[in-house]
Amino acid sequence: MGSGAAAVVLVVEDDESIGSAMRDALADHGYTVEWCLDGASATERLKTSPPDIVLLDAGLPDVDGFTLCRSLREEHRDLPIVIVTARDSEIDIVVGLDAGASDYVTKPFSMNVLLARVRAHLRGADSKASDETIQVGTMRVEPVDYEVFIGDEAVPLRRREFELLLLLSREAGRVVTRERILAEVWDLHWETSTKTVDVHVLALRRKLGDAIEIATVRGVGYRLVTQ
Ligand code: CA
Repeated sequence: MGSGAAAVVLVVEDDESIGSAMRDALADHGYTVEWCLDGASATERLKTSPPDIVLLDAGLPDVDGFTLCRSLREEHRDLPIVIVTARDSEIDIVVGLDAGASDYVTKPFSMNVLLARVRAHLRGADSKASDETIQVGTMRVEPVDYEVFIGDEAVPLRRREFELLLLLSREAGRVVTRERILAEVWDLHWETSTKTVDVHVLALRRKLGDAIEIATVRGVGYRLVTQ
């Protein structure tokens, strides 16, 4: 990462159709994809140079994905591991996080959501570059301190509001889809819906007043307007 080399994504998935769909979508987006069909080959693969991120099916033929996740985590402390599972009950989510998973995607998933998660985790793993102050018009966003200023005035924001504004500011002038916002600002699937995003945008507009405009792109998402 950062050297211009494509990030390596290791897909561990025994289902041929899901695995090939993931491989194709990831490859289309410029990633180098490696695909293992079971836990044993994934374990073997990870003894060589680690990938940048692992997408791990919870239901593998030879080993439980959560168990595999736990053992991978012991060896690779900072490796992003996203568990992909059909089991979406809260208890499974807790088990997965206890097993050291970085994140969760539940089947059936939208490929765009999966890609957004991959982007978010790769960015997180490579986060130093994104700690820089962002200035848009009179607004200043300080990622390290979780602070926002309009001129010299601090704007009190809740954590999710801040993270949403940070994402929109990093992409200032470009449309950010609701799905991407949901994937990057709300880490887990819990019961969050795109309505939640809309509500937080309304709160941001109220708090930011006339200093910054967050435009609605109907049916798609939001764009922070730059002048
Ligand atoms: Ca499976």
